[in-house]
Amino acid sequence: MLSNFDIGIDLGTANILVYSKNKGIALNEPSVVAIDTDTKNVVAVGLEAKEMIGKTPEKVVTIRPLKDGVIADFDVTTDMLKHVMRKATKKMGYGFRKPNVVVCIPSGSTSVERRAIQDAVRNAGAKKISLIEEPVAAAIGAGMPVDEPVANVVVDIGGGNTEVAIISFGGVVACHSIKVGGDRLDDDIIQFVRKEYNVLIGERTAERIKMEIGYALVDHEERFMDIRGRDLVSGLPKTINLSSYQVQNALKEALLHILEAIRATLEDCPAELSGDIVDRGVILTGGGSLLNGMEEWLSKEIVVPVQLSSDPLECVVIGTGKALQYMSKLQAAIR
Ligand code: ADP
Ligand code: MG
Repeated sequence: MLSNFDIGIDLGTANILVYSKNKGIALNEPSVVAIDTDTKNVVAVGLEAKEMIGKTPEKVVTIRPLKDGVIADFDVTTDMLKHVMRKATKKMGYGFRKPNVVVCIPSGSTSVERRAIQDAVRNAGAKKISLIEEPVAAAIGAGMPVDEPVANVVVDIGGGNTEVAIISFGGVVACHSIKVGGDRLDDDIIQFVRKEYNVLIGERTAERIKMEIGYALVDHEERFMDIRGRDLVSGLPKTINLSSYQVQNALKEALLHILEAIRATLEDCPAELSGDIVDRGVILTGGGSLLNGMEEWLSKEIVVPVQLSSDPLECVVIGTGKALQYMSKLQAAIR
């Protein structure tokens, strides 16, 4: 009965991805929408809209409709889904037939938040909708044997949130979700540069700094980067030279929050499954896990093996897609 799902959607706070049974990843775009404030029309969606962030004329605003892992702007989320589903189904040659959709939901979301996701997907033109817990999808995508009675630990560090979950026998047995992810790291870099240099930088610049010279709390060879922003005193453009150790210091507090969530989840693990964790370790997924030194830092801190999944940014959608195929085994995680 569940074999006739067409597409899987990972509706992330930073990126939205669509997986189809026959095409694999059919679409992968930033979760950003540009809107004309006069007409309320959508000007651009995805990559095109992300490139406009911080650079739009007055009457165009760029919106990230999902925040902290949940829908912050329902109408814009629906518009984005509409656009994305139309583009993906067109690519797949479905024409105008309404697709049946599997969409993942954060484990930490409330029933109201889940309902909002379901409604947005329905309003965007889906026929049948099924929900899957995001950490379960991430674990399936990372190739873990989630339907076996062993502890599969997955840490998914996204844009707006981090979810840590222990999955066994197709269901979540323990989980912690915090509203700290890659966005918070970007914010902390912006705040640091502002306080230290009185210079304002944009969120795109902050993200670039994080990716290039941001490190988890590990020793490393110091690196530097020239960055440009606006001097808050003179109002003029200014270039400053940042060190990777300065950036690391700015990221410290948020990284410790993530570590704390992992520790708390491991402490909640049923005793019977604790032994598995020592043997099998923890898998990292989500774009935030690509921060330099993340794997090394976490292995040192939690003293169990930590491994970065092979496609951290695609794990969840790949898992959603695989779930299309063997959903009957996963009833516990699907509703
Ligand atoms: P979501 O599921 O919330 O959409 P993703 O799993 O797509 O999130 O991850 C997006 C986050 O990953 C963003 O905050 C982005 O800045 C971060 N990210 C992507 N690549 C890297 C990298 N190489 N280093 C550090 N952070 C990264
Ligand atoms: Mg995600």
